[in-house]
Amino acid sequence: MDWERILLVASHVGVIERLMETSLAYARTRSQFGQPIGKFQAVAHKIADMKTQLEAARLLTYRSAWRLENSRSASLDASITKLFVSETLVKTALDTVQIHGGYGFIAEFEVERALRDAVGSTIYSGTSEMQRNIIARWLGL
Ligand SMILES: Cc1cc2nc3c(=O)[nH]c(=O)nc-3n(C[C@H](O)[C@H](O)[C@H](O)COP(=O)(O)OP(=O)(O)OC[C@H]3O[C@@H](n4cnc5c(N)ncnc54)[C@H](O)[C@@H]3O)c2cc1C
Repeated sequence: MDWERILLVASHVGVIERLMETSLAYARTRSQFGQPIGKFQAVAHKIADMKTQLEAARLLTYRSAWRLENSRSASLDASITKLFVSETLVKTALDTVQIHGGYGFIAEFEVERALRDAVGSTIYSGTSEMQRNIIARWLGL
């Protein structure tokens, strides 16, 4: 499961990056009230958060993969990484839908599909609740 959890989320890091880039491109080109929506701080901050969480998710995944290769146990790292990356993916997908407004909700754009796929990531390979149980157990709780 350590191996599965770390490698699964490596692909999710790629999806988070794609969603961030999709949101960025849309925020630069979609205009409302005479300016690109990316000029509105409420929109820009969502994308700034996506970038911040993307880089954190990437580093966490690299570190866990290194530990998987070089340490005796990577269970705690695997749970922390699975929890953080999958919940970041859901948040990023939800914010991507929000940034796309009505277009984010309709099936012609692939944004709503990304959100549906993202939700599964907090369920398979151990739900978020189970990852928190594992982390708490490692902390002696
Ligand atoms: C897209 C997708 C792909 C999947 N692929 C696979 C696969 O390839 N192979 C496979 O074997 N399975 C797969 N699954 C199944 C997945 O592993 C299970 O759905 C998951 O482990 C949760 O089990 P459950 O559905 O029985 O939910 P339940 O165990 O009934 O959980 C329901 C809710 O209760 C919570 N809960 C349960 N027990 C506890 C507890 N002790 N402490 C706190 N909260 C708890 C859960 O976190 C969840 O929120 C997949 C699921 C999805 C959605």
